[in-house]
Amino acid sequence: SLVLVTGASGFLAAHCVHQLLERGHSVRGTVRSNEKGEYLKKLFKRHGDKFQYVIAEDLEKPNVFDEAVKGVDGVLHTASPFHMNAEGRALDALVNPAVNGTKSVLASIAKENKVKRVVVTSSFAAIIDSKKVKPPHTFTEADWNESDPIQSEQEGNAQSPAINAYRASKTLAERAAWDFVEANKPSFDLATINPPLVLGPIIHQVNSPDSLNTSAANIWKLMHGGSPTAAVAVDVRDTAKAHVEALLRPDAGGQRFGPSYGPYTYQEVSDIIHATKVPIPDEWKKNTPTDINDSKAPVNLDGSKTERELGVQYHTFKQTIEDTLTSFVDYHNRG
Ligand code: NDP
Repeated sequence: SLVLVTGASGFLAAHCVHQLLERGHSVRGTVRSNEKGEYLKKLFKRHGDKFQYVIAEDLEKPNVFDEAVKGVDGVLHTASPFHMNAEGRALDALVNPAVNGTKSVLASIAKENKVKRVVVTSSFAAIIDSKKVKPPHTFTEADWNESDPIQSEQEGNAQSPAINAYRASKTLAERAAWDFVEANKPSFDLATINPPLVLGPIIHQVNSPDSLNTSAANIWKLMHGGSPTAAVAVDVRDTAKAHVEALLRPDAGGQRFGPSYGPYTYQEVSDIIHATKVPIPDEWKKNTPTDINDSKAPVNLDGSKTERELGVQYHTFKQTIEDTLTSFVDYHNRG
């Protein structure tokens, strides 16, 4: 079968494409430039013509996905802005592309009338609502973030910190997806994947540390003078597997899945870095503080539904961090 993966150049999407190809599917990825497409062609060269890419420059360009959806059997929609350095209004930078891109790709798929299942990459951001429920609290797929969208609407996003705007963007985009299916009764049903912070090895194009994706950059920063904040996490490969399983399993239709192995601290990350046999440069170790003593986030996402219903077995946190380091060393050595 032919699966469309939007935003194929991204950290998570590249792993989704990889797993789909390994399982024998053909994949068409959308990217914003030929350079990014050619990078992926090379990355997946052992799969030959089973991987192809098309250009879809901008999530907000009308009908941008019309060509991309032609003849596909299933879709993983992952493309969405995830960065905290929006210039100007966060509404324009984050919410609009997230929401309009989701509506646009669903409208293009619906016109084709062939696709049975669409998996949208949502986020723990569309679940967690620390205003509604007082931490400590373990959230599940039954929970919805109500506060961030309301707040961002009230503020017109003008003053919203980037993280709130990001959370609003993911919540509103996911809601738009469910609303679309409800209102249009298309040929497909929907599943969403709602991961917390996604960590693990990078395989996508990253030309310099400045262009590292937001979540993997946390680990890089810890070894380069930064002090990231503890969060709830999951491995990128487990998140990709959840996408693929949610695409293929009939029972996943109409459901949300929050893959997660729970909260971690940067003290744990530091301990792994200082004990690891992965040959990381000495400065990286030297620059990683040994006495962080940060506490775990008081919130959690219950990842058991993804294990139970999608058959995902989580990596250990140590494996995730060590494989992240191995990939960083690999990119570093390539120069
Ligand atoms: P990346 O930044 O690596 O990937 C984002 C992808 O979306 C890239 O392919 C990017 O293209 C594309 N994109 C972003 N903005 C636009 C736009 N305006 N028009 C067209 N394409 C666009 O991050 P991740 O891989 O981490 O994110 C993938 C998905 O996972 C997103 O939906 C994100 O919200 C979600 N997610 C990520 C989490 C994490 O911790 N990483 C946690 C929870 C959810 P380009 O490569 O050209 O920039």
